[in-house]
Amino acid sequence: MKLNGNFQKLGQSYLFVTIAKKVAEYTAAHPDNKIIRMGIGDVTLPLAPAVVEAMHKASEEMGKKETFRGYSPDSNGYPFLREAIAGYYQSFGVNVDASEVFVGDGAKSDVGNVVDLFDVDNIVLVPDPVYPVYVDTNVISGRKIVYMEGCEENGFLPMPKEDHPVDIIYLCSPNNPTGAAYNREQLKTWVDYALRQKAVILYDAAYECFVTEDLPRSIFEIPGAEKCAIEFCSLSKTAGFTGMRCGYTVIKKEFVVDGVQVSALWERRQGCKFNGVSYITQRAAEAVFTPEGQKQIKENLGYYRQNAKVMADAFTEMGIKFTGGKNSPYLWLKCPDGMDSWTYFDYLLHEAEIVGTPGEGFGKNGEGWFRLTAFGDAEKTKEAMKRMKCLKK
Ligand SMILES: *Cc1c(COP(=O)(O)O)cnc(C)c1O
Repeated sequence: MKLNGNFQKLGQSYLFVTIAKKVAEYTAAHPDNKIIRMGIGDVTLPLAPAVVEAMHKASEEMGKKETFRGYSPDSNGYPFLREAIAGYYQSFGVNVDASEVFVGDGAKSDVGNVVDLFDVDNIVLVPDPVYPVYVDTNVISGRKIVYMEGCEENGFLPMPKEDHPVDIIYLCSPNNPTGAAYNREQLKTWVDYALRQKAVILYDAAYECFVTEDLPRSIFEIPGAEKCAIEFCSLSKTAGFTGMRCGYTVIKKEFVVDGVQVSALWERRQGCKFNGVSYITQRAAEAVFTPEGQKQIKENLGYYRQNAKVMADAFTEMGIKFTGGKNSPYLWLKCPDGMDSWTYFDYLLHEAEIVGTPGEGFGKNGEGWFRLTAFGDAEKTKEAMKRMKCLKK
């Protein structure tokens, strides 16, 4: 037996380990600390009441012989949920059929698993900085990765370079970690490029619900995307489902490569390796898309958006450069005085007792930048901004 040697090629996932270690050392030395955590990308508000009610009802059904459900008849989701998600797309003007929606246990799994559909010789194009899952899943399966540079000059929204042959393109908009979001014209450029290159766009829309400006919420708002894109979305950030586990992938029928329907391949892949999301979770997810559920989750989103605004206003006042915060729960700051990401991390921890995430952990272009999230408590977010304003830098 030989192990998959590609695991040796993975970068160390030291980011959150190092953060935890530094925070533990600080708290041990300062027992009376008042640390405010603005680092990890997890939500903090509880599930919406409509979701909890749906779970209660579904668990009652599971406890009665007449309404008990075993294996789901279709690992891609119950029709009630696939239809609810298709209806959600219609609500912002995107035409998606229930049969084009594939329910899964979260965007991380689907984004990671989708690479099964593609040849190992494909060349992968990944933005830097970005959510680390895209790189790691392709390293594990042994693909060649090329990077496109996100930087201050392009607002962390890299655009295609024409002479660059690629097969698999990852886009994440609104972006984690930078909070930057592509506009329609930019996405149109990407779709046209992918069609010309006969490449696939893997579009991570995990933060679509944070879009407030007139920006696309789905790659399928762009004509032509139905022939070259796969979209991933999740209830994690939308509805606080990080601990529930439910997301969805959309592949349009029109996406056909060499006579093979890509959605059929995904169905085959899921049918082989996945037995679906639990019935109770699917009922909970269905409740998110009811008018009552939508109203309730929008209140929570409004709470996070207000935090983001408090932060954005504070950084503007302090003259700190940043992206995000408007269509995203992330604010991506340029470290003041030319500090590198880890120096700024230590500085904020020691001088203001604020924990953030060094940008360098998201790719080499993240060096000199820093991510703070709006997922925290409103009072603590205000307090954190007060502390930062008191700092000299
Ligand atoms: C949080 C996040 C996801 C969602 O992952 P789940 O597995 O659905 O919880 C996907 N993509 C990005 C970029 C994220 O930040």
